[in-house]
Amino acid sequence: MSIVVKDITKIYGTQKALDNISLEIIPGEVVGLLGPNGAGKSTLMKIITCYLPPTSGDVTVYGESIHGDNLAIKKMIGYLPEQNPLYQEMYVREYLEFIAGLHHIENRQKRIVEIIDITGLGNERHKKIGALSKGYRQRVGLGQALIHDPKVLILDEPTSGLDPNQLAEIRSLITEVGKQKTVILSTHIMQEVEAMCKRAVIINKGNIVADKHISELSGSDVNTITIVVEFNGETPVGKLKALKGVNNVRKGEGENIYFIESSGDSDVRPLIFRYAVDENIEVLSMKKEEGKLEELFRNLTK
Ligand code: ADP
Ligand code: MG
Repeated sequence: MSIVVKDITKIYGTQKALDNISLEIIPGEVVGLLGPNGAGKSTLMKIITCYLPPTSGDVTVYGESIHGDNLAIKKMIGYLPEQNPLYQEMYVREYLEFIAGLHHIENRQKRIVEIIDITGLGNERHKKIGALSKGYRQRVGLGQALIHDPKVLILDEPTSGLDPNQLAEIRSLITEVGKQKTVILSTHIMQEVEAMCKRAVIINKGNIVADKHISELSGSDVNTITIVVEFNGETPVGKLKALKGVNNVRKGEGENIYFIESSGDSDVRPLIFRYAVDENIEVLSMKKEEGKLEELFRNLTK
């Protein structure tokens, strides 16, 4: 096992943040820790990374206990905290040099060049961190987490607050750098887990309420999006099926409701509107049906 969390409880004052949690993660797994705000995600991550002691229970990282040699664990883990605390006044390169120094990295200059390359910070390396966009600041945070080539990456809400372009870039960067590592990332957005993880651990009010492979959650259809459309009259299913990007169409019973399936990467809604205009029928309503994971998450964390 890479990480074993055993009976972890954390009580802050009178507030129980984690309630006897256990979890095992095998090397190379990319696990999404999913839960609403206040669920206990950050607390669990701080305990695994030895920044916070638990009230009771144990965690081992590649056999090392958090109650033993903290330094040994910190060496194995790259950690991107939720607020990504960075020195605003430092230059990107200077900051990475500083972090490399803390880790006593050999061949420091070579490693910094590698990290700048991996994280795509080439054009920003001479800028002050305070002058960077949120997306680039997250890259610096990831660079910081990766610099000592840890076996484990722990990323606390790595994509929160990013715009859609930055989001896509950071997601693919995490997917890329996570290929050779064990990764735990937290998020309160289910699509994040579907996009980056093979396994979803859903946590609510300090308890694990589900722990499943993405494939178990939704068969092979993780990527299928269903649009539910109501027209003001009947229309041939075959014609809807012929629209570009549409994989399948089912007609609902009774009303003129159609379930139009497409894969996640193509948005067929504009085509459906255009189809209605061309066919001289009207769209009375159109909505996206939730994915299985989303549904499960809402039910479990209600
Ligand atoms: P998440 O990261 O899932 O949003 P947290 O782990 O930050 O959740 O918080 C879990 C619970 O513990 C919340 O109810 C939060 O208010 C509480 N909590 C977190 N940190 C502290 C703290 N330092 N002192 C007191 N309560 C805390
Ligand atoms: Mg948090």
